[in-house]
Amino acid sequence: MARYIGAKCKICRREGEKLFLRGSRCYTDKCAFTRRGYPPGSHGKVGRRKLTSYAIQLRAKQKVKAIYGVLEQQFRKTFKDATRTTGNPGANLLVNLERRVDNVVYQLGIASSRTHARQLIRHGHIQIDGRKVDIPSYKVKINQKIQLVDSMKKNALIKKSLEERDPEKTVEWLKLDAENLSGTVIRMPKREDITLPIQENLIVELYSK
Ligand code: SF4
Repeated sequence: MARYIGAKCKICRREGEKLFLRGSRCYTDKCAFTRRGYPPGSHGKVGRRKLTSYAIQLRAKQKVKAIYGVLEQQFRKTFKDATRTTGNPGANLLVNLERRVDNVVYQLGIASSRTHARQLIRHGHIQIDGRKVDIPSYKVKINQKIQLVDSMKKNALIKKSLEERDPEKTVEWLKLDAENLSGTVIRMPKREDITLPIQENLIVELYSK
């Protein structure tokens, strides 16, 4: 399955904000955006150009793709699905992305980043209702139980990511069982649950052209 393999920190620098794509490193002084908060490339220090409305819409889309780690083809498909559901297509798009099992594993704190979560899923370490799910784009449903397989429960990286999980962080639509390293979907996510700096209306405008 195709995935982005370029430098993640360059994406934050290009977007002009921290997108927290590299787990615990993002909270340390090693964060590239903290050290070099200007765009990458030899002209990066010159300053940001004034963007056209198309460029603003494009950047809004690229940012969401980077946050959820989705490439263009799959993102477009997710958007198409969102337009087929009743309601605001932009909000539907974000809800569909939020329901991805890789995002759920990350939100529960079992993985330190969505990339780490994707790796756990691809390697067959995540089960839903007792059955292995190795497709990161799988969309969770109400009452499903997402859990880590027993053989990984002592894994140092997972322990570390759970220790570093912000105890103040609550994801209203998920219930974490920290003892059993599992979580349950108690309701579907809503647009209001997604606090990331996203302007989904720009993505809708871009795809409507
Ligand atoms: Fe972005 Fe900083 Fe994390 Fe790199 S370390 S992904 S620049 S937030």
